[in-house]
Amino acid sequence: MRIVIIGAGVAGCVMARQLALLDGVEVTCLERVTRDDHSEAGTGLNVGPNAVKALRAVDPELTDAVTQASFSWKNWRISLTDGTVLFDLPLSEVAEGAGWRIRWSELYRVLREAAGASVAYGCEISALGRDAADPRKTSVAWMQDGKEFRLDGIDLLIACDGRYSSVRRTISGEVPVRQVGVAISRVLVPDSSSGLIDDYEQWFNGPNRLLSFRVPPDHIYIACAFPIAPEADIPPERKTPEALRAAYTPPHGVPSPQAQWMIDTVCSNVADTHWARMQEHDVLYRAADCNVLYLGDSAHGMVPTLGQGATQAIEDAANAVALITRSYRNGERDVAHWLKEIEALRKERMRFVMEFSLAATDTMLAGADPVQGTRHKAEPPFRRKLSRLYRDVGPLLDKT
Ligand SMILES: Cc1cc2nc3c(=O)[nH]c(=O)nc-3n(C[C@H](O)[C@H](O)[C@H](O)COP(=O)(O)OP(=O)(O)OC[C@H]3O[C@@H](n4cnc5c(N)ncnc54)[C@H](O)[C@@H]3O)c2cc1C
Repeated sequence: MRIVIIGAGVAGCVMARQLALLDGVEVTCLERVTRDDHSEAGTGLNVGPNAVKALRAVDPELTDAVTQASFSWKNWRISLTDGTVLFDLPLSEVAEGAGWRIRWSELYRVLREAAGASVAYGCEISALGRDAADPRKTSVAWMQDGKEFRLDGIDLLIACDGRYSSVRRTISGEVPVRQVGVAISRVLVPDSSSGLIDDYEQWFNGPNRLLSFRVPPDHIYIACAFPIAPEADIPPERKTPEALRAAYTPPHGVPSPQAQWMIDTVCSNVADTHWARMQEHDVLYRAADCNVLYLGDSAHGMVPTLGQGATQAIEDAANAVALITRSYRNGERDVAHWLKEIEALRKERMRFVMEFSLAATDTMLAGADPVQGTRHKAEPPFRRKLSRLYRDVGPLLDKT
């Protein structure tokens, strides 16, 4: 059986490593960048306890390797920038274990090392489509080191090529995007906070939010967010140090020591800050009429509010690996049926994760009241949803 994976990011590496263990399966993972090019991964990630649980169920060794490159994410605190604490939740109350805090580039390094020889780096896809002999199968051609390569008769093509998936566009058409109306910035800086910043925290001034946590070896990740008109670009005048200082300084003018450090650090790192708009796109796990599976960001784009992008890429991959491995070893080789089963495992779960992530963004929208909105997050309905988010990774993984 021939399986091709496009993209050696989060989902692609987990898939490549596990599928390569199946006897009689030829796995080729094609990655666009060179192996050590992490230029698109210059930030920190908080990865949810649900990803840790899901990955442990299929690959304990890889889970331990990521844990070693991370700090534990054990607590979630939300305050105002004047220091008033609104919400302080040990994750142990809603999850079976800790999450990870890690540099994105480190996560890629660990995952790519683990994926091994089935990944080919520096590959530029030149053609992709249905196989001439069997329309359920696919073909792919690519350039690597100036040479052209081609694989036909692909039994299963897995798109793990991220948010702007060219595989999904080519096979299943354009993906409509919905803007949420929140601007978000990200920057990674050396830790000069003298212990002020460690585990995952957020600070509000009105709907304007700061977020921060420490990652190994000795860095701090900071994200700013504030409301914008949903279809508008981020106004350049709101990205200046003066505008950012004004956005996060509390009304009486005295930020808490934590918020003061964050505001000063944000303002002195404006040049290195990456800006984006929060957006979503529709869920699609499989192509309608050929054996193409979408996983991770290629399958779903969600707002980053609950830190579930990479988390769900891992959860997707763990579920797909568990289903494919079980089916293949049982002699069930109907690939189209695998894809329907993977979709059945993931679609409702993903709707829940996306709707929950969007609902949790309420405190960042124009006119929001972060005090009421955050206190509401400490109440049982929100905590029950968090518990479902962090524990319910799928029946196949719970049984493993
Ligand atoms: C700044 C920022 C901060 C984030 N913070 C968090 C967070 O705190 N927690 C969290 O869970 N998520 C976070 N996310 C989201 C998370 O990074 C993504 O959801 C996650 O990386 C998706 O994993 P993936 O495997 O689907 O795709 P990716 O990890 O994006 O991997 C896609 C891979 O495909 C490759 N590729 C793309 N096109 C092609 C092609 N044509 N041919 C070959 N290869 C190709 C890319 O080079 C890449 O290696 C953040 C994202 C950003 C941008």
